[in-house]
Amino acid sequence: MTEHTEVLIIGGGISGSTAAHFLRRPWLLLEREPVLGGLSTQYRSNGFWFDYGGHYFHFQNSMSIQAHLTANTPFKRHVRRSKVQIFNRLIPFPLQSHLEALPAPWRHRIERELASPQTDPKISLGANLRATFGPTLYRIFFYPFLSKYYGTDPETLASGMEKGSIPPARSDSTSPKPNRKLQGYNPEFFYPVGGLHKFWEKYAAQLMPGVRLNEPAISVDLARRRVETRIGTYTYSRLINTTPLPQFLSLLNGYPAGCDQAGRLIHASTRVTNMVLAVRRRRFHWVYLPQNSHPYYRMGYYPGAGTCKIYLEQSLPPNGRLNEKESDAAELLQQLGVIRDQEEILHISRRNIPVSYVLFDHAWFHTVPEIRQRLEENGVFSIGRYGGWTYSSMAEDALSARNTALAINREMA
Ligand SMILES: Cc1cc2nc3c(=O)[nH]c(=O)nc-3n(C[C@H](O)[C@H](O)[C@H](O)COP(=O)(O)OP(=O)(O)OC[C@H]3O[C@@H](n4cnc5c(N)ncnc54)[C@H](O)[C@@H]3O)c2cc1C
Repeated sequence: MTEHTEVLIIGGGISGSTAAHFLRRPWLLLEREPVLGGLSTQYRSNGFWFDYGGHYFHFQNSMSIQAHLTANTPFKRHVRRSKVQIFNRLIPFPLQSHLEALPAPWRHRIERELASPQTDPKISLGANLRATFGPTLYRIFFYPFLSKYYGTDPETLASGMEKGSIPPARSDSTSPKPNRKLQGYNPEFFYPVGGLHKFWEKYAAQLMPGVRLNEPAISVDLARRRVETRIGTYTYSRLINTTPLPQFLSLLNGYPAGCDQAGRLIHASTRVTNMVLAVRRRRFHWVYLPQNSHPYYRMGYYPGAGTCKIYLEQSLPPNGRLNEKESDAAELLQQLGVIRDQEEILHISRRNIPVSYVLFDHAWFHTVPEIRQRLEENGVFSIGRYGGWTYSSMAEDALSARNTALAINREMA
């Protein structure tokens, strides 16, 4: 069966679904899974709802989309309480703004080494952070933390990939009475009351007539503007792709000129370990974990009253297999004061995220814009964090999806 639509969307996460909300031309959306939401919805395990790691809306750079996303679901605003675990202490994040909380000899040494932010785009992310924050803070925090977070050596990544998410050291960071204004890209965040699935119940409802669930795209013919699934063929005038860019390129029957560098696109994979605990013992939202003694880079509490649910995140090696010991997690949670003993862990559920963080090496800056440009010349808008192969938040993805839909509306009017 062949169906024609003016706009075909592949993927119904926040990017594909927001684009659908704003399109004013006939559209259809293909989603591989039985529900919409992608990584920004929740899954159920043993009767409990869990996120794919903490997923909080940051509207700082995308306030104009806030009204749209929060129109039908109540959201609660949270003022960030996040920590860094270092020297057996829990120091407020970002560490570079709370040097007063470090042991004095370390603080003095780091203070002497702090420099102005580096702006040389040719150096690596590691070299940039070393030059900006000094070798000591780099060695005790940035290097071990980012190596775990990205699952790779930050010396091999490009400076600029962090896109402003690493705040500079505050000028008063060593004074005993620092300015308490929260820093960074996420000083506050918003989360739907009742969990992300509540948001998706409403956000997905109006879209359902145009949505084909359980129907992954399996091949894309750019020349004939045709997408195949296992049960049908769809022809289109414009295609919006939100699946990971390398995966999308692998569906094409031959790369268009300029897209043959797809093999150079690199990413990290993440395992999220979700747990239900008997009791909440700590009040912070999440903790950054630079230590090498265990594999986890971040632990956090899911927002909301009621059942106490937490997550631990770790990178997956390229083969996807981990030699993990469950005791690592329990030991860590005890160290953090999150549990008293293993008996307080009532349920554990794990999910792997095969493509979690897009990694930028120096090739990214010419490869990715070139590929996206070539696709656009063929009627394909590849958008979102994974389709656009970039570093972005859910709110930024929603904003760029809206802008893409508005541009298509204008173009096809
Ligand atoms: C561990 C982790 C924590 C994060 N925390 C935050 C946070 O706190 N705040 C924040 O703003 N952002 C966070 N993010 C980023 C956020 O997840 C993304 O920005 C956002 O989910 C991207 O949405 P998307 O719709 O572009 O992609 P996705 O959510 O990946 O949606 C893509 C959709 O395409 C579908 N699909 C895949 N292949 C096919 C196919 N062949 N055919 C049809 N459909 C297909 C998938 O099933 C999926 O539904 C986090 C990411 C990770 C990995």
